[in-house]
Amino acid sequence: MSDGAMAEYLLKILIVGDGNVGKSSFVHRYVDGQFSRSYKMTVGVDFSVKLLHWSDKEQVRLQLWDVAGQERFISMTRIYYRGALGCVVMFDVTSSSSFLSCRHWKQDLDNKAMLLNGDSIPCILLANKCDLSQRVVSSESIDKFSKANGFMAWMETSVKENKNIGEAMRMLVQEILSVRSGLDGLEPRPEGCVSPQLDSEFSSGGCC
Ligand code: GDP
Ligand code: MG
Repeated sequence: MSDGAMAEYLLKILIVGDGNVGKSSFVHRYVDGQFSRSYKMTVGVDFSVKLLHWSDKEQVRLQLWDVAGQERFISMTRIYYRGALGCVVMFDVTSSSSFLSCRHWKQDLDNKAMLLNGDSIPCILLANKCDLSQRVVSSESIDKFSKANGFMAWMETSVKENKNIGEAMRMLVQEILSVRSGLDGLEPRPEGCVSPQLDSEFSSGGCC
């Protein structure tokens, strides 16, 4: 009804983690509402868009970057991280190696992407495939790891059973938007921050 009053935020969100943990299935489920059993190893980077009606006055356009082609942790190019405002780090609760890799994924992220005030970008840790009984990673160790490595939160998910998918993304978006209001609000801007826009409130951490 009231055109022009709607604010739209464009948020680039990265989905990282070892191969086979469920990243592409997660994006597919979240964006298209489906789970497909077939396993197709994506090559390169796929990105999908989802429009969220956040409130009466705000909508959020999520750009989900699904990295692919890697079995294990690889250091990503800075270009991939550029402009990212949030991140999902995912592992498979039946694979301890995928859990161990999360440390590297998070460190790589923190080395290459940060807000202009120096804070790391909001990042949620997802323990996927919680529908499977042969789980090898305990909640205690996930909790400890999550706190020690600067994640905003962690959650168990099952893309297969559609458990916590929307919830996890809502939590992440909420955090991104509250970081935004902190930076954009009436408080003085962090030193050296000249950009008025969220989209550019990002530093590549270097000169290039
Ligand atoms: P990616 O390499 O991280 O993108 O992983 P994929 O999305 O390709 O998923 C790898 C495999 O795990 C596929 O066979 C999926 O069907 C399966 N998978 C993904 N999520 C779940 C889940 O929550 N539970 C179970 N049981 N299988 C899942
Ligand atoms: Mg994939």
